[in-house]
Amino acid sequence: MVFPFNDIRDFKIEIPDEVEIFRKQVRQFVENELEPKAMEIEKTGVIPEELLQKGIELGFTGVGIPEEYDGQGGGAILTAVLMEELSRAVPAYGTALLVNGLFTYPVLKFGTEEQKRKYITPVARGEAFAAHASTEPGAGSDVAGIQTTAEKKGDKWVINGRKIFITGADKAKYLVVSARTSPPPDKRKRWWGLTVFIVETDWPGVKIGSKFDVMGLAGEHPNEVILDNVEVPEENVLQPINEGFKILVETYDHGRIGVAAQAVGIAQGAFEKAFNYSLQRFAFGRQIIAFEGVSFKLADMITSIEAARLLTYWAATLLDQGKEEAIFAASMAKTFATEVAERVANMAIKIHGGVGVDKETGVERYLRDAIITTIYEGTNDIQRLTTIRQLLKRALGIDVLMR
Ligand SMILES: Cc1cc2nc3c(=O)[nH]c(=O)nc-3n(C[C@H](O)[C@H](O)[C@H](O)COP(=O)(O)OP(=O)(O)OC[C@H]3O[C@@H](n4cnc5c(N)ncnc54)[C@H](O)[C@@H]3O)c2cc1C
Repeated sequence: MVFPFNDIRDFKIEIPDEVEIFRKQVRQFVENELEPKAMEIEKTGVIPEELLQKGIELGFTGVGIPEEYDGQGGGAILTAVLMEELSRAVPAYGTALLVNGLFTYPVLKFGTEEQKRKYITPVARGEAFAAHASTEPGAGSDVAGIQTTAEKKGDKWVINGRKIFITGADKAKYLVVSARTSPPPDKRKRWWGLTVFIVETDWPGVKIGSKFDVMGLAGEHPNEVILDNVEVPEENVLQPINEGFKILVETYDHGRIGVAAQAVGIAQGAFEKAFNYSLQRFAFGRQIIAFEGVSFKLADMITSIEAARLLTYWAATLLDQGKEEAIFAASMAKTFATEVAERVANMAIKIHGGVGVDKETGVERYLRDAIITTIYEGTNDIQRLTTIRQLLKRALGIDVLMR
């Protein structure tokens, strides 16, 4: 009955009371300050500095970071709820403030105490932004294809390479950077030989290159990062050397719940707009919600959103409980929720008729944002590979490295 899980009680969502208290605070900020700026951000492609500062004051950059490093504490469920609420209005704002997690997670999990004190604390306080620089022209889904190199010279590592699509690089003070430190021993072990480094963006040789003009997430477009003979001290290596692939994959296993939550927020925002419009708009003398063609769409939209939300909160709960099944659940949640967001956003446009494709209405942007969620932090094809790999592992004990 519960195949491929062990126990029916694994299907449980746990939301501590403080998560709901926090959610209400976030909602208030979103309604009063973020939502009114949504169209301005969409048009200018810039999130006003004071809005970012307000998010920092409210502690958003510290969510998911332990209090001992000046974070707000909380785990995956708190982070997911924050991301969902922000993304309901401006998904790029959620990305701008929470992409730090792709830096803080690997440093907290694999870093030394000294690295954590030096780099996590300012990020948690919002004094410094951080980003994750891994993707390259020849290495996106295929992380093992990374060609950036790091060579040991004396007591330093020297990094050379080019990273693309790096979210938050233009604001970041710190980066985690992946590079090849050893050739792979054989074709079957291509993943071996990568190492992850902490790099400061004001060090000589680090250049933040051009911005990518992507179709959605206006306000948080990624940048190119060029690394030209960047000298990195030994104490900035995330150990173990040559095992960086595992650090990267574990970071994405953790981070993709945030993308699932972002997709739930996008879908919710699009749904609410469509629902309101269906009550306001009259055709043939009736509110359009009176037509089955519209109301059945709304029913399907809300059903799929709730299913996506349940999957996302379930994956977050498993992660907070430290259960291995979290990886399985997170890949399913990311795939499902982002595709729900795409469908719901599309239906929201159709319910709006002509004004749905008018940029001024602010509805079509949900579809452009949703499509990006199906791609970043591992495309949904890669999520499906993870899902099937987890299934084979659980059902048959077969461990195939397919990512
Ligand atoms: C807005 C945005 C922000 C981003 N931010 C960051 C960031 O902060 N840091 C960072 O490092 N990267 C970032 N990325 C990069 C992102 O993670 C990659 O774009 C993504 O992982 C896909 O890699 P790719 O673009 O090289 O596509 P490819 O890997 O070239 O994939 C092309 C197509 O082939 C499919 N495919 C590839 N391999 C397989 C396979 N084995 N099985 C089935 N299908 C496969 C893919 O699903 C896709 O459809 C960002 C990307 C975007 C668009």
